[in-house]
Amino acid sequence: MHVLVLGSGQLARMMSLAGAPLNITMSAYDVTTDRVVHPLTQAVIEQTLDQAIAAADVITAEFEHIPHDILAICDKSGKFRPSTDAIKAGGDRRLEKTLLDNSGVKNATYYVINNRADFDAAIQHVGIPMVLKSALGGYDGKGQWRLKDAAQVDTIWQEMQECLNSSTHQAIVAEQFVPFDREVSLVGARSASGEVAVYPLAENIHVNGVLSLSTAIDAPELQEQAKKMFTAVANSLDYIGVLAIEFFDVNGELLVNEIAPRVHNSGHWTQQGAEVCQFENHVRAVCGLPLGSTKLVRETAMINILGEDTLPNALLAMEGCHIHWYGKDKRPGRKMGHINVTADYSGELQRKLCEIADHLDENAFPAVHEVAQKIRS
Ligand code: AMP
Repeated sequence: MHVLVLGSGQLARMMSLAGAPLNITMSAYDVTTDRVVHPLTQAVIEQTLDQAIAAADVITAEFEHIPHDILAICDKSGKFRPSTDAIKAGGDRRLEKTLLDNSGVKNATYYVINNRADFDAAIQHVGIPMVLKSALGGYDGKGQWRLKDAAQVDTIWQEMQECLNSSTHQAIVAEQFVPFDREVSLVGARSASGEVAVYPLAENIHVNGVLSLSTAIDAPELQEQAKKMFTAVANSLDYIGVLAIEFFDVNGELLVNEIAPRVHNSGHWTQQGAEVCQFENHVRAVCGLPLGSTKLVRETAMINILGEDTLPNALLAMEGCHIHWYGKDKRPGRKMGHINVTADYSGELQRKLCEIADHLDENAFPAVHEVAQKIRS
């Protein structure tokens, strides 16, 4: 079988690696350059998008910010999975909120802002403090403002106005500031026949809005809540493939922060920590194959490599330490790769995280250092 992926970044690369043992080949469509490329080498394949669509058995996506005209062309072929509605909901916070509400899934109180009168109404409805997020194009904490004090209203409005004027379709979603204890996410898959399989929850640490460290956790009550919400959202979309849901844990109660209709950074740990990883399960689901087991096989944590292109070889020499580079050119803050670290039990995982922290620069890997400090104290 041949799969065409919309997007040619690291997620397409890892899907391609996971599909190879199943004899599933892949090409990727770079939406920004309008080129079809090989997802591992980035070598250009001399095909137009129409030709690539015709040559594919299945089409899927590695990100949600895809122009709707491209989605429409893919949809017309009847080959696109999970579904164009799911991708659109992931790329527009207004649609996402409507989806969550219609699925009966709890999320933060919100208000959609199109103009200054809406902003004033949002302040009444949602209250201060609030988080303001652009409806379109925002990811990894980009296009966001924190309104903590009424004195900031006019200054923040100036910036919001610029954002609103940037596109006729743009809006801003005001969200209640959630005083969460921690952030967790659930990654899982739904097959064409409606079977659902979820991985254990991951606890996530973000630095400046970007995921830095994810650890698979054993939290049966939260897992149960998360799985119910996951199933409600996936069923309401008649979803096919891997879906990720990010949550805030507030006193043991989960509120959805956002959904990602694709494989997700907080699921990279499954490459070493689960029986079948998220990339293979996505490929299996979209190709109509049975889902693989999502069972945890080893305690695992994942550390994002941001803006760095070399790591000490001592890490590779450590048992249970696996490095995944994405083959990208170095840029400050860019997701360049990740480290998966595994252990037989959680105390050993903690010991290994401390050992890894000793090899890494504190400025480049603040979350690992913070965790190591906590473990040691
Ligand atoms: P997002 O891009 O929506 O995932 O937001 C990036 C990060 O900002 C999240 O991972 C949270 O740490 C924080 N954040 C987002 N929304 C809220 C909220 N409503 N209340 C508190 N923190 C938030």
